[in-house]
Amino acid sequence: MKTAIVIIADGVNQKSFEKLRKLGKLPFIDELSKDSIEVKKCISVFPSATVSGHASIATCVHPGYHGLVGQSWFDRKSGEFIGYDFELTLPDNWIDASTKLSDEHLTVKTCYDTLREKGVKTFSVDIIKGADYNFSFIKPGLDKGIGFARFLMFLRKFAKHKGGGKFSKLTKMFLPVFQHEVAVKNTIKAIKLGCRFGIVWFMETDFASHLFSPEKFEGNGKQYVYDSFEDALRDVDEEVEKLYNRVVKITGKEPILALLTDHGQSALKSGDKYHLDLVDVFSEYNLNAFKNLDLDEYENRMKKKADAVIAVSGPRMAHIYTLRNREEVLEVLKSLECVDQIIAREERIVYHEGEAFRLEEVDEVLGGEYPHAFERIDGLIVSERCGDFIITAKKGYEFEKAYYKGAHGSLLYDDSVGFAIIRCGKNLEIEECFITDVIKLVLREFIP
Ligand SMILES: [Zn+2]
Repeated sequence: MKTAIVIIADGVNQKSFEKLRKLGKLPFIDELSKDSIEVKKCISVFPSATVSGHASIATCVHPGYHGLVGQSWFDRKSGEFIGYDFELTLPDNWIDASTKLSDEHLTVKTCYDTLREKGVKTFSVDIIKGADYNFSFIKPGLDKGIGFARFLMFLRKFAKHKGGGKFSKLTKMFLPVFQHEVAVKNTIKAIKLGCRFGIVWFMETDFASHLFSPEKFEGNGKQYVYDSFEDALRDVDEEVEKLYNRVVKITGKEPILALLTDHGQSALKSGDKYHLDLVDVFSEYNLNAFKNLDLDEYENRMKKKADAVIAVSGPRMAHIYTLRNREEVLEVLKSLECVDQIIAREERIVYHEGEAFRLEEVDEVLGGEYPHAFERIDGLIVSERCGDFIITAKKGYEFEKAYYKGAHGSLLYDDSVGFAIIRCGKNLEIEECFITDVIKLVLREFIP
């Protein structure tokens, strides 16, 4: 039996990927692409974010159908705020991410379920669980909880705040483990256990892009930790080569190996006005909004009624749930310089640059800078978990006081477009497809 491994290199911007490839800096990926189905533009879903993206890859459907409508959302019925943006609101969301994700929130089958029915033993080194063997993506061994992950995330957070984007020497000493290497180790363990299909998450490319910008090239290598997007992506190239060769050695056969990205990443501008906390923005207009809290928690703490709940992804996209004063909320959103599009879910109306038009007209109005906007918005808003309004950030902005240099989540080209390479012995070029199509393409080669 063949082996098929799907590797998600997180948040790789397609233009930067192509640039490094042309410079010959990704030699193994280049080699791999020779016997591959190569997708030049692999389009993310909406929001172009990690949780919604990984779930879309594993289920082959858009977020509105699998239920993970973003990094976070608000459950209107229970008043619960559900958050997976583990870096921003520790530690609760790690608990969500490691224990609840597939069990509670996914509403459809994953590829693991499909393959189990066909008698294939599967593994996950990914945020989406539900395989026969679920490994941690952050420490060697099976997924067992949040202790180490919490520690690692704390160090990252600490490093970012201390050094204004640069990692301090002290932090480097405490960061001995590279996530890509851990992912490769766990993959090898899974193959040795007899698993023949799995999804593996390489997350450092996304971190490096957020911290240093997707357009930051030529760092100092990964002596301790990456200091450019280029370093992180070159490390993907090296680690994929290692993984590939080990799998050949263990199984005696060349595996089907897919490498794709869950979403892109776009560069942000510097300055306070480009990094906005929407809760603060709303309060300037005398509207009470909150995020990362359950409704009763907010009301008990603040002793006031909320007008809106905000759930950000990327963070260049946000669900806005209106609890009161809906018209005022909409007027505020329309007046904000940072907002690119507002989608009114029930009405299926899109507001953009002072105009309002029907969702069906969105591709015509927005054009190629927002690839497949209609299909992606339509594939999100079928879910009742979505906000009453969904907003995207204009180029250069993010909905977080985070001072990142890169971010994603919106419909914009750089946020949305990545690549996919499926090494399967075939030689074929596909101009574009969605990330939801990649596992279908893999399974076609895997189970003829
Ligand atoms: Zn991601």
